[in-house]
Amino acid sequence: MQCRETNDLIMKYFDHDISELEIEMLLKHNEKCPGCALEFDAMKEALSALEELPLLEVPEGFEAKVLESIRMRDAAVNHAQSLVFWLIGILGLIIFACNMMSFVIIPYIRDSGILLIAQNVIIYAVTGVLELLREALVTLSLSVGKLLILRNVLLRDYMDAVMMVVFAFVGMNLLLISKLKLQEDWEGLRNEF
Ligand SMILES: [Zn+2]
Repeated sequence: MQCRETNDLIMKYFDHDISELEIEMLLKHNEKCPGCALEFDAMKEALSALEELPLLEVPEGFEAKVLESIRMRDAAVNHAQSLVFWLIGILGLIIFACNMMSFVIIPYIRDSGILLIAQNVIIYAVTGVLELLREALVTLSLSVGKLLILRNVLLRDYMDAVMMVVFAFVGMNLLLISKLKLQEDWEGLRNEF
């Protein structure tokens, strides 16, 4: 028997899917072939070591934790799904609104003459505002003109008053001088006599 066939028998042996005759053939080959014998022994040792490992203890509440994590994952999936449904709904509403605007509302407005009325209202309002502005400007310029006239009048009256004061002062001085001169003359005359 070849080594390759023995390998197949080794696999069958550890799968517990082997006949008595095949076990006999395998063992007979191993007696003559140290390579296959070594492989068989190594596998036997490894498997028996695995069987000797203690059974893992499942920690307390392990099942509950697994179920909880599954529930949480499902909740997250549901959350994402509802978000997607919301977005689809909003998108649908926007599309519906756009369709309403372009096929119903805008044609209705165009046909009903609302635009014409709005246009007239805007023109009327703008004209009114411009009229008010014009009136305000005229009133303002008139007021400025009046103020200028008032200033000129005040200035003229002030100059008149100043001139009157100056004239009065000069006149009083002249009077004083003539009076003193008269007195001087009088005293001169008296000294002569
Ligand atoms: Zn062999």
